[in-house]
Amino acid sequence: MNRRLVHMTVRPTPARGTLLWRGLTRACAVCGQRGLTRRWVTLREDCPRCGFHFERKPGHFVGAVGISTNITFGLLLITLVAGIGIMWPDLSPAPLLLAMLPIAVLVPILFHPTAKTLWVAIDLGMKPLEAGEAVGGAEERSAK
Ligand SMILES: [Zn+2]
Repeated sequence: MNRRLVHMTVRPTPARGTLLWRGLTRACAVCGQRGLTRRWVTLREDCPRCGFHFERKPGHFVGAVGISTNITFGLLLITLVAGIGIMWPDLSPAPLLLAMLPIAVLVPILFHPTAKTLWVAIDLGMKPLEAGEAVGGAEERSAK
């Protein structure tokens, strides 16, 4: 009896430290490829080298929004506490608002792609690669 076996290879998931470093430095968590954004804020849908699709399921990037929100509010809190400490005891809201407004507006925009790659890395740490994920992008296919 002839049976045809179909083998689907599963690419090994990198170690958690590697995943986090790649996520923090806006690299592909799977292969380390850089240059994943267009115009700084738009993350490509797939890694050009390994073909990993960054949005693993619909709504995947809600975690990235959570990371971005926590970073932004953390920086706002640090700015508020430092501002109060510097101005104490003559508190005035205007300088605090002037210092906090750019943080509230710019950090979520500029940190957005990093939050996404970091979330992809965290998600991969919790849920390793499965068969059919990261099976090779255009760069890997052209190298063969
Ligand atoms: Zn990749």
